[in-house]
Amino acid sequence: MILETKHLTKKFGGNIAVKHVDFSIEQGKVNAIIGPNGAGKSTFFNLITGVHPPTEGQIFYKGEDITKLPANKIALLGMARTFQTTNLFEMSTVFDNVIVGHRLRTKSNLFDAIFRTKRLKEEEERCKEKALEVLEFTGLANVSDQLVANISQEEKKRVAFALALATDPEIVFLDEPTAGVNPDETEELSLLIKKMAEQGITVCLIEHKMQMIMSLADHIMVLNYGEKIAEGTPDEIKNNEEVIKAYLGG
Ligand code: ADP
Ligand code: MG
Repeated sequence: MILETKHLTKKFGGNIAVKHVDFSIEQGKVNAIIGPNGAGKSTFFNLITGVHPPTEGQIFYKGEDITKLPANKIALLGMARTFQTTNLFEMSTVFDNVIVGHRLRTKSNLFDAIFRTKRLKEEEERCKEKALEVLEFTGLANVSDQLVANISQEEKKRVAFALALATDPEIVFLDEPTAGVNPDETEELSLLIKKMAEQGITVCLIEHKMQMIMSLADHIMVLNYGEKIAEGTPDEIKNNEEVIKAYLGG
């Protein structure tokens, strides 16, 4: 298990967004989290990636307790994420978005920054190479010089993936990566997610599109009102009565 949560709980005032969730993410697999709107899926990601501190419970990454680590420290451990709404610099190029995202996430020390040391220059060179590599991988090489404002919604989703991949993550958390794109584009993004997993990157994604999840995921966890109500393979989940009830509002 690359990542585990134990009794993970988050309360916002009197509202329990995530309730005693025990979850394990298997290395190299595609792990999906599904559930109705407001089920606590994004909050669960926010807890794991250090955006919010949990109210109760623990998070372990490769056996190490990371419950109290801030987001920047967690990112340095090899975890990257995308957000439900992509926050890109619309008036910058695709390439520059990836470069800036990469810089924000890598440590640069003040001495290097002020004196523009050889080390810093080498690091900038590596950063550019990495950006080119992830733009190639995500199928964006041909739009790398375009302003983000001028590319399609699907390409913007790919830029979000590229930003996450630029940090060489071991695990990526994707929050509704195909929201707002059409079925053909969803299929394309699905293939890209599959390609990430084939590269050995562990994927954990939140999705609403059932057909996509069923063909993509190795393991699915279902949240409802903050609680885990089921988990298993796509086949197990498809036939689970609790899950059917939650989705039909029964
Ligand atoms: P999902 O991603 O499954 O749609 P969320 O995790 O966004 O669900 O939300 C779960 C619950 O937690 C909702 O009731 C939501 O209103 C609440 N919530 C999420 N984030 C916050 C926050 N920052 N402050 C207060 N309440 C929040
Ligand atoms: Mg959400």
